Amino acid sequence: MYKDRLIFMISSPYGHKYYNISLFFKNIIIYFITFILSIIFFIFVVLHSFTMEISDIENKYKFIQKDYQALLNKHSDLSNQIAIKQEETILVADKIEDLESAIGINDNTQNYGLKSRVELASITGLQKLFIMKFIPNGYPLEKFNRISSPYGYRIHPLSNTKEMHTGTDMATDKNTPVYATADGVIDFAKDGWNGGYGTIVKIDHSFGFKTYYAHLNSIAVKRGDFVRKGQLIAYTGNTGASSGPHLHYEVRFLGSHINSKNFMEWDMSNFDKIFQKEKNVAWQSLLTTINNLIQQIPMEQQLSRLEQNSKES
Ligand SMILES: [Zn+2]
Repeated sequence: MYKDRLIFMISSPYGHKYYNISLFFKNIIIYFITFILSIIFFIFVVLHSFTMEISDIENKYKFIQKDYQALLNKHSDLSNQIAIKQEETILVADKIEDLESAIGINDNTQNYGLKSRVELASITGLQKLFIMKFIPNGYPLEKFNRISSPYGYRIHPLSNTKEMHTGTDMATDKNTPVYATADGVIDFAKDGWNGGYGTIVKIDHSFGFKTYYAHLNSIAVKRGDFVRKGQLIAYTGNTGASSGPHLHYEVRFLGSHINSKNFMEWDMSNFDKIFQKEKNVAWQSLLTTINNLIQQIPMEQQLSRLEQNSKES
């Protein structure tokens, strides 16, 4: 019975005591295994609850992300709708203005009752340079096939009704580069229908002038960009209410469209012509303002600027 077992015997005056060593170790091993199993079980329970919590958080995250995406979509939808409404408002304002001129309420030739005579002899070279830099002049395209529709009243090619054409249309090949006609800041640059204008760039210039470049294929600038005269801003296309690739170029003064042809044909060689052709701008007052601005610049700077400009042109 006691084969292969180690048995200790302790003797004392009161008798003998036996200790079964292998039983002792057996107990220790059982305790140890129980301990390890409890730890494994504990880790398993903790891990399981962590996994549950993580998957719960993941679900919540997905749900929030979905919600966020929906809000984002709604936001961009609303922004688009606002942009379209703004364009429509501008178009409606145009239509009202056209109607007003048709029934004679708003006579565009009244030139705001301002002094229209310009003292040509007093215009300096620097004033001319200043004006040709900041006020729209020249063509927005280096080349185009023909003027397909001039500024003024016309039978609209798509709707077949008589209406005011607010700009000059130049038939071009698609993707012809479009250039800014004066220094300014991009006020609007957007793809889409835009009330029929299609993809359009609008530039805010100094002294109340604005230019529109419409039916574009693509845009090379963004809202807020400052641009110089002659800078590439876009490429022509056939977007919006357009029946073939062309650029619709519009010049505006104080929010009203004026004859863009006068401004396209305007350059240094015929500098004075615009004063007779365009009666909606108080040119003398503008020249005086520009003269005052120039006089505030010290003489050396004026000279170096003149030199710079003559080198550039
Ligand atoms: Zn047009």
